[in-house]
Amino acid sequence: METLGRSGVEVRTNVKVVGVTKNKVLLAGGEELPYGVCLWSAGNAPRPLVSHIAHKIRDQAAAAESVRVPPGSKLCVDPFLRVVGATDLLALGDCSLVLGNRLPPTAQVAGQQGAYLAHLINSGYSLGVGGYSQPPPFQAVKRGALQSATDRSALLRWLAMTMVGGRQRLEAGSQVSDALFRMDSPPWVRAHSEALTAAPPLDEHGAAAAACDLGEVLAAAAAAGGADPAAAERASRECLRAVAAEAEARRRAAEVEEVRYWDRPFEFLNLGIMAYVGSDKALTQVEAFDWINLKLHGSFAFLLWKSVYITKQVSFRNRVLILFDWMKAKVFGRDISLF
Ligand SMILES: Cc1cc2nc3c(=O)[nH]c(=O)nc-3n(C[C@H](O)[C@H](O)[C@H](O)COP(=O)(O)OP(=O)(O)OC[C@H]3O[C@@H](n4cnc5c(N)ncnc54)[C@H](O)[C@@H]3O)c2cc1C
Repeated sequence: METLGRSGVEVRTNVKVVGVTKNKVLLAGGEELPYGVCLWSAGNAPRPLVSHIAHKIRDQAAAAESVRVPPGSKLCVDPFLRVVGATDLLALGDCSLVLGNRLPPTAQVAGQQGAYLAHLINSGYSLGVGGYSQPPPFQAVKRGALQSATDRSALLRWLAMTMVGGRQRLEAGSQVSDALFRMDSPPWVRAHSEALTAAPPLDEHGAAAAACDLGEVLAAAAAAGGADPAAAERASRECLRAVAAEAEARRRAAEVEEVRYWDRPFEFLNLGIMAYVGSDKALTQVEAFDWINLKLHGSFAFLLWKSVYITKQVSFRNRVLILFDWMKAKVFGRDISLF
């Protein structure tokens, strides 16, 4: 406040602007501020696209109401940044609002949300529907061919047990393979799984073979007015093939036995707040690990602010260009020819 005051800025706090006309700003309480140039730097209206999407999704209105924001002003998202009430739709940054965890509309939040969603998408999870009552993003996972085979066949199980030396060692082995299987997910994902389907009964083959029995087919054909024996044999073979294909499809479906859930919601890591207040001065507040609480102001905070800006640039080229720009502005003043 002192720095701004010294620069000739009159700061008014707790004042609500209720309107802006051609040449004056109207304040609540009836006061009017005449102006020559009005520069509005507060409050962001939603983009038409954001409002349009929010109004198209039925659950968005209720979600907005629950956090007391005007409907259509933000896309309400769940802790996995999935748009509430929509399938396979994500939102991040200023256009979004995380239900239950209201975050400031800053680049710091938007950047971390971008990195979070990049990991989520690159890990191949199905997003599903956004909302609190919905399951998190998930993956249906097939078990290994050997594991499925030993699960199905008593002989293979016995063989495996004999080879590894008993049931306990087999169980320990399967726990190790399960742990290894989970390790291929990113380290921050605590993947967990649940059984989805039981293996199909294996005695169906006998029943199927009986249904496709050549004698039965011939008898059915005779009852229907007789049939060529060669054609009946072909029909029997076709029947057996169809039953075998169906059984194989059922077996494959049963192999998808586990669902991995992405159970790490987005968490914002606050790296601090910095604000430039003009006249080469800034404010800096850094809090971390419960024991760092750094509050700086003035020229040193300004240097820190500048160094963060430089390190955050995406390329070496940008860093150099911006440094030159700063030096140029210091010597010749700010270039406002484009405004
Ligand atoms: C003056 C000012 C100072 C700020 N200072 C800081 C600061 O010091 N630190 C900080 O952390 N944050 C700061 N912020 C906030 C920060 O800029 C935003 O939080 C951040 O940029 C949000 O990123 P975003 O990707 O969500 O949105 P944006 O950066 O706004 O990106 C949205 C993009 O979408 C594009 N777009 C919009 N509609 C469409 C459409 N229909 N089709 C295609 N593209 C479209 C826009 O053109 C834009 O490029 C400041 C903001 C302002 C205005």
